[in-house]
Amino acid sequence: MADTTASTAGDAFAGVLGQDRIVADLRAAVVAPVHAYLLLGPAGAGARAAAVAFTAALLCPDGGCGHCRDCRLALAGEHPDGLTYVPQGAFLQRADADEIIRLALRSPNEGNRKVLVLADMHRIQNAGPMLLKTIEEPPESTVFVVLADTLPPELVTIASRCVRLNVPPLPAATIERILVDEGAAPDLAAVAAGAAVGSLERARLLVADPGVLRRRDAWAHVPRRLDGSGAAVAVIVEELRSMVEAAAEPLASRQAAEASALEERVAAYGERGSGRRRLEEGHRRELRRHRADELRFGLATLAGRYRDALVAGSGDAVAIVAGLRAIDRAAEGLVRNPNEALLLQAVLLRLPPLPA
Ligand SMILES: [Zn+2]
Repeated sequence: MADTTASTAGDAFAGVLGQDRIVADLRAAVVAPVHAYLLLGPAGAGARAAAVAFTAALLCPDGGCGHCRDCRLALAGEHPDGLTYVPQGAFLQRADADEIIRLALRSPNEGNRKVLVLADMHRIQNAGPMLLKTIEEPPESTVFVVLADTLPPELVTIASRCVRLNVPPLPAATIERILVDEGAAPDLAAVAAGAAVGSLERARLLVADPGVLRRRDAWAHVPRRLDGSGAAVAVIVEELRSMVEAAAEPLASRQAAEASALEERVAAYGERGSGRRRLEEGHRRELRRHRADELRFGLATLAGRYRDALVAGSGDAVAIVAGLRAIDRAAEGLVRNPNEALLLQAVLLRLPPLPA
C-alpha cells in the first residue's frame, strides 16, 4: 500500500496495518504532542499497535525512525520511558489509580519525555474522578495515551481532556489482504477475515485455528436443520454450545499452564503477593471475551446465510427479515454477558428454516 506521509517520520508505524488515517494523525502529532490522547476503537482493530508505534515515535530523536535504540526498545515494549499500564481486575480499583498516578509523576528515566499508555480504560468505572486531575494536567514530561474499546459514561470527562482519535473496526477486505500478505491461504484468509468482526488480532488467531472452517459450516447449516420445533432448536443449541466450548480449548490449556506455574511459585514463596486473584480474574475475562467472540462469529455466519437467501429469493422474505433483526439483537445483547443457552434458543426459535 502506498504511503505518502512517511517522508519525514520514518517507519516506527510499519506495524500499524490498515489504519492509514490514524497513522497519519499520529505522525502529525509527534511534532508537537499535547498531554493526552485517546485512541477509541474495538479490540484488535489496531489501537494498541498504534499506541506502541506512537510511543516509539515520541521517544525517538528522529520522530520514529523505527531502527534506533529508542524505537527498538519502545516497539518491543521495553523502553524505560515507554510504559503500558493494564488493569487486571474486571474494573479499575483505587490501587490502579494510585499506581497510574505514581507512574505519571515519576521523572523520565533517560530522556526528557515519558509516554504512559493506559490500556482497557473502558473498564475505568469509579476510578475516573481519581485520575482526572493527573490526566488533564500531567507533569510536562508525561504524555498519556488512553486506550478504550468503548466510551462508557465514566470515561466521558477524561475523554474530553484528550485529543480523541477514533480507530474504526478494520473492513473484512483489509483484514483478508493483510492475512494473505502474511502468508495465509486465500480461502482460509477470507473466512477468518469475515469471522473476525473487524479485529486483525482475532483474524490471526482464526487463521492458525484448524477448526474454524468446520465451525463456520456448522453455523451455516443451522437454517436447514430448523423445522419450527423447539426440540430441534434444543438439540442444535446444545451442539453449538459444546462447539464454542471446544473452540476455547487452546486458550484453556494455556491458562492451565499459567495457573500451574503460579501454584509452583506459591509452593516456593507462599501465597502472599502471588498475584493469584489478578491471574484468575484475567483468565475469566479472557474466556468470556473468547466465548462472546465465537458467538458473534456464529451469529454473523448465520446472518450471512439468511442474507444470501434473501438475495437468491429463496425462503419467506418477511420471515427472513424478521430473523435477521433477531440475530442483530442477539449480537448486540452479547455485551451484557447473557445466558448463552437462552440467548441462542430465543434467536433460533425466531429463524425460519431454509432449504439446503
Ligand atoms: Zn528511532
